[in-house]
Amino acid sequence: MKPYVLGIDIGGTNTVFGIVDARGNVIASSSIKTQKHTNFEDYLNELHTEAVRLFEANDAVDKIQGIGIGAPNANYYDGRIDNAVNLPWPSLPLAQLVSEKFGIPVAVTNDANAAALGEMTYGAARGLKDFIMITLGTGVGSGIVINGQVVYGHDGLAGELGHLIVKRNNGRLCGCGRTGCLETYCSATGVARTAREFLEARTEPSLLRNLEIEAITSKDVYDAAMNGDQLAKDIFNFTGTILGEAMADMTVFSSPEAFILFGGLSKSGDLLLRPLKEAMDRNMLAVFKGKPKVILSELKEADAAVLGASALGWEAK
Ligand SMILES: [Zn+2]
Repeated sequence: MKPYVLGIDIGGTNTVFGIVDARGNVIASSSIKTQKHTNFEDYLNELHTEAVRLFEANDAVDKIQGIGIGAPNANYYDGRIDNAVNLPWPSLPLAQLVSEKFGIPVAVTNDANAAALGEMTYGAARGLKDFIMITLGTGVGSGIVINGQVVYGHDGLAGELGHLIVKRNNGRLCGCGRTGCLETYCSATGVARTAREFLEARTEPSLLRNLEIEAITSKDVYDAAMNGDQLAKDIFNFTGTILGEAMADMTVFSSPEAFILFGGLSKSGDLLLRPLKEAMDRNMLAVFKGKPKVILSELKEADAAVLGASALGWEAK
């Protein structure tokens, strides 16, 4: 048994990877841009070059037991990603290609499942057997844990709660081709879309009007809200309400002890959490009222995904 694994988290914007030891210490980590590589071969070449650089700098060459990867729509059973709408290369045999390039066994799962594994092993979900991880990033991902096990479903693809339809009529177009999905409202990009909609539909002054409308990010909305901007606060109320309503619906499915929120937007604090908890409570089936906790991830964003992915690396064959 070699002493390290490589954990890789492939996000729509960035790919973060790290060398992890058997105790879950991230020995060293680095990242590359996912978005700029429309060609997977170019992407894999850069990932390999940077990872080998990291191995060399940390005396880890030939000491990597396996590679674990978390990526959108990655299938734990067959190692493929298929129809991953937030990636530049939506369908390919990910585990096989990475394994051939590195000469190291690879196991994959979707990024939110990886985050759930990381949270269960090292973070806010330690000791929890039933929880739902919600990742609020470029998209909205989820990892469902029941009886201490990540739920993969019969085909390896379970847990796509970001594509629950929360608006049946006139919903926003989603990358998945349907309309009204949760992630079109509650992802970072969803918040930016809401900002554009609100700015166009309303006339009151707002700090956000000083910005180029197409370039507004969720961080800009957060900054404006923290500076007391009412329109920005309304954007968070709108976002938190939709997410809270959806979480009330999710509760009836698996009765989670907690929801763990992860990703940039989850750091918005009460701007997001207050409307979220109110909406969750208003919409909760009576028998579940007041039961599921809402917890923020305790892990550094990069670490949770890398650690979770790395946990799979030990299983890779
Ligand atoms: Zn969708």
